[in-house]
Amino acid sequence: MKRPEKRIPLATPTTHGDELGYIKEAFDKNWVAPLGFNCDGFEEEMSEYLSAGLENKYHCLCLVSGTSALHLAVKAAGVKRGDVVLCSDMTFSATVNPVVYEGGVPVFVDSERDTWNMDPKALEKAFEKYPEAKVVVLVHLYGTPSKIDEIKAVCEKHNVILIEDAAEALSATYKGRQCGTFGNYNALSFNGNKIITTSGGGMLICEDEESRKKALYRATQARENVLWYQHEEIGYNYRMSNLVAGVGRAQLKHIEDHRAVKERIYKRYEEGLKGLPLVMNPYIKEEAKPNFWLSCMLMEKGVCDDFMKIVDKLNEANIETRPLWKPMHMQPVFAGSDFIYVEDTPVDEDLFSRGLCLPSDLKMTEEEQDYVIECIKECF
Ligand SMILES: *Cc1c(COP(=O)(O)O)cnc(C)c1O
Repeated sequence: MKRPEKRIPLATPTTHGDELGYIKEAFDKNWVAPLGFNCDGFEEEMSEYLSAGLENKYHCLCLVSGTSALHLAVKAAGVKRGDVVLCSDMTFSATVNPVVYEGGVPVFVDSERDTWNMDPKALEKAFEKYPEAKVVVLVHLYGTPSKIDEIKAVCEKHNVILIEDAAEALSATYKGRQCGTFGNYNALSFNGNKIITTSGGGMLICEDEESRKKALYRATQARENVLWYQHEEIGYNYRMSNLVAGVGRAQLKHIEDHRAVKERIYKRYEEGLKGLPLVMNPYIKEEAKPNFWLSCMLMEKGVCDDFMKIVDKLNEANIETRPLWKPMHMQPVFAGSDFIYVEDTPVDEDLFSRGLCLPSDLKMTEEEQDYVIECIKECF
């Protein structure tokens, strides 16, 4: 294949047309507002999806973004000014920002090499230094489940609240159970680049209706249940629009197809890049089924001195790539924050220096992917 006219992207929205039916219904009923039947339907259908096979049903609240879901999770967890919160380090800043909105003090925890997620041993070490910590925020990077049992065991031992940032991990499972159902409060994102999208949106997943109700109250300007506008707490305008929720209802019907395509893309890279001095983003095959949201490659040490040259070369070939999430402890905005690691040198810094996200768009053709693979081969 020749250099394509159109850039081959990492991940863009993939729609199917049936989204329009839900939007039309909202127009027909003149329900063009926040809240409404599509919001109710989307929450109910997500709850069914996440809770299938479980004893208790999860309670979902659709919101304007994954970030707002995380913010309401942090509030629900009771984080107050000065409270230490132990957070994943290798992630997008939206995992951590809501902790800071509430005046919490993030302490970053290094990753392990088996899933690129929070290392349970580093988390244990973090509790030795910060026994007063009451909340942990855990991400599943690129849709790969963390070592959830080990992380949960540490959390239970120290009797803390676990917030699961499953923004990238909807439809990924761990020991048969859906990501987004492991924390006390869990967040999903439907941003344009995620595995399903509503153009922009998110969801808070709660264990009980009481928590959902409290979050709903905060998300709708904290209005008391009286005739006039009465406020006893600072509120937010975080509710999802009924139009946007309609897009989500249609997208959710396609989630398993999306996951299957993402897996095919990952497997095709794995096969096509065999023999090169690199590995794909790893997962623990015995216990986890990632959603393969983004395929990534990690170059062997020593072969990646020209790391940015590879990015440039692929860029010239009209292929979008991007280094892995830059670890939070390396971000200027968090320069004053503590960072806990257990290996001789931080795993996250090493991953960041050698890892690259590859085009994983659902609409990418096999021909386009073969072209990407060929271009990567030429870099070595
Ligand atoms: C996308 C993302 C978010 C934020 O979601 P938005 O809907 O964009 O606010 C949070 N955490 C992680 C890990 C993400 O990838």
